[in-house]
Order: sequence, then structure tokens, then C-alpha cells
Amino acid sequence: MNIDDPYLKEFGEHFCIAPWAGLYSNGFDHSQPCCVFNEPLTGVNGLTPNEIVNSKEFKALRKNMLKGDIHPSCERACFSPERLGITSHRNRLNHLVAGELPLVLETKDDGTITPRFRYCDIRFSNLCNFKCHFCSFENSSSWFDEKKLIESNVKYFNPNSLSWEPTDKKVWKTSLPIDSILEEVVPNVSHINISGGEPLLIEENYQILERLRELKRFDVSISVSTKLSRLSLNNYDFLSLIKDFKDVAFSASIDAIGARAEYIRSGTNWQQIETNWFKLKDYQSQMNPNLNLQVFQSVFILNSFHAIDTYKYLEQKWKPDNIIINHCFSPDFFTLKSSSQELLKDLYEYYDANAGESLIPIKNQIAQILNDGDYDLKLFKELFETVNFLDTQRKTDFLKVFPEFEKYWTIGKR
Ligand code: SF4
Repeated sequence: MNIDDPYLKEFGEHFCIAPWAGLYSNGFDHSQPCCVFNEPLTGVNGLTPNEIVNSKEFKALRKNMLKGDIHPSCERACFSPERLGITSHRNRLNHLVAGELPLVLETKDDGTITPRFRYCDIRFSNLCNFKCHFCSFENSSSWFDEKKLIESNVKYFNPNSLSWEPTDKKVWKTSLPIDSILEEVVPNVSHINISGGEPLLIEENYQILERLRELKRFDVSISVSTKLSRLSLNNYDFLSLIKDFKDVAFSASIDAIGARAEYIRSGTNWQQIETNWFKLKDYQSQMNPNLNLQVFQSVFILNSFHAIDTYKYLEQKWKPDNIIINHCFSPDFFTLKSSSQELLKDLYEYYDANAGESLIPIKNQIAQILNDGDYDLKLFKELFETVNFLDTQRKTDFLKVFPEFEKYWTIGKR
């Protein structure tokens, strides 16, 4: 038990504040308590946020949690990582939404609560101008056509590895009415998470910021995760809207630089991304020092030989406040397990000789996969087929951008 967490002291070591104080909706008209609870808990169609949190599914989740039960989704997303010493989403939320003991103490026997949203994470749409190699249709409308083509053309394609949401619509939008979110959720929140799709392409995200300004709720902490391709939409200007807020964390998802970034995150115009970053830096130094500028750098098999130079480049040239290294765990064929023994041995040597402190966990992960013999050639073949198929569709050439893979690529052909 985390002895610093008052929730755990009061309500038991399996407690999480999310089902009481959070609202997450993925726009496929599903709602769940948080973004990592990886199955729909309840539908949202025709319901308001207040009705959703008092749906029979949310009530049952709260009742069971207070009894000490662990929901299978919570086990996968939070409790197993915690056992490995990793800070879980539950740990972060209990810390972020602290001090809501009365809200929990007022819970009725059947799990009903008086709704008081403190944390809001609504993905209004999957609208996105990027089709990153490792993403899914769930998170980007731009994947729609290629997802369908991959399904019918790539032998190793696992339909669940790119998206678990069957739909014939390219751009989906939540049926949760924005007015009910602006009236029932926004006034009480202490934290808002803005993600997409590409969140700065989605009007509702700007409307939330406008509403917070109207309410003069500059105390609300805001986190934004974006690919950094834009900072405005129509008449909305993101930088004007975040002015005066005391705590804004802006995370740019950057996993490679230059041509490699343009390859992995298809849709990237690297020059534009850098222009936007330095605009943010100027804004931070001149207008809003409360803006926290961070980079979220994911490491997966395709960019694994460049994670170190990317990190150094960003650290020295971009000078972010923080670089968060993300170990990619899905889709399976993008992870470091999707490789051969030879590739992993070469990678290990490279990290052993060059990785600074921040990338040591990646080196350890490679060592663990090697020791456990956990690399998977079937996944590597799946990666090979998918990359080759996308190259044909997109008229790109993976080996031209990542020539170091030439010697391993023959495995995929076998
Ligand atoms: S324990 Fe984890 S998965 Fe479960 S509701 Fe809390 S944050 Fe979400």
C-alpha cells in the first residue's frame, strides 16, 4: 500500500478515485472511469454525464471497489504494472484528484453518488490528420481506408492489433451533448485532459477552454497531448485560450526527427512541427511561464536504433521541461518483442554503449526480452508485411529511411 495515499488508508488498498470523480468517454459512445480501463463500461447514447456516473454499471463498479474487489480491467491496466514497480494511472489519479474523501463517504449502499466531476477526459472524436504506423482507427480517422485494406491484404494481420472498434464511419463523434459537458462537468473539474484524435483539430476542446475562461476557472490544471501540427482552428487560437491558466502541461508526441518522423507519423511536416514548438517556447518565456512544455517520446521496434539520437536532439535543441520515455506495449508487432535474437543483441550493444540515464529502462527491457527468449518472429513477420504493404500504399520506402534494418529484414521475407 502507498502509505502517502489517504484514499487507500480510508477505503482499502484497491481503491481508485476514478469511478467517483472521473469521466472518460471514447466517442464510440462508450464510457468508462478512465482511459486505461480497456473495455466499455456503459453506453452513453441519450445519457447526460450525471446519468452515466449513476448508471447501474458505474454503481456496481463503485460498490465492488469499496468491498475490495479488483475489476479485471483495473487488474490489467493498473494493478499488474504496480506489482512491477511502475506508477499506474490509478496512482496518478489518486494524487491528481486528492481530497475527495467526502464524495466517497457519501456513497449510497447501491453505489449511487452525487455527481461531482473533478477529472474530465472526453475524446470527442477520432478526427486526426496523421496516420502514425502504430496507431489505430479508434484514435485516427485517417487510418480508416488503410485499416480496411490491411485487413483484407496482409496475411499476418490481426484484426485486433489496429482497432477493436468495428464501424463503417470514418469520422466518429461522441453523442454526449457538448452542452451537458459544459454545464454538468466543466464547472466542477480540477483537471481536464485534452486528447484526440488530434485534439487541436476538434472544436469541442476549444469550447471547453472557452467555458473555463468564462467561469474564470484558471485554477484548473490542463494537460494536452498533441502531434503539434497546429495551434489553432478557425477563429480559435490555442495560445490565447490558455493564457492566465496556472498549470498547463503541453505534451508533444515526438518519437523521431526529420524524415524518420515524417515516415513513422505519416502526415508530419517536420518543419511545421519545429516552427510550432519554438512558437510555444517563445510564448512560454514571454507570456506564460506556467506552461510546462514536455515531449512524450515512445520507443518501439521501428525507431529503436534512433531513440538515443532523438532524445539528445530534443534535449539540446528543443530544450523541453521534461522528456517522458514511453515503452510501447501495443500493437504487439510494434513492440520490442517483435524482433529476432540477432536484432535484439545488436540493439542491446548499442544501448549499452550509448544510452544515457533516461534510456536505461529501454536497455533493461531489451535485456529482459533476450534473457526470457521472449522475442517473436511471427510478430516480426507481421511487422514486415504491414510496413511493406503501407509502403506500397503510401509510396514510401522504409529501408531508405531506416537502412539499418536491411540486414534483419530478410527474416520477414522467409
Ligand atoms: S484502477 Fe486503473 S483502470 Fe481501474 S478505474 Fe482506476 S485508473 Fe482506471
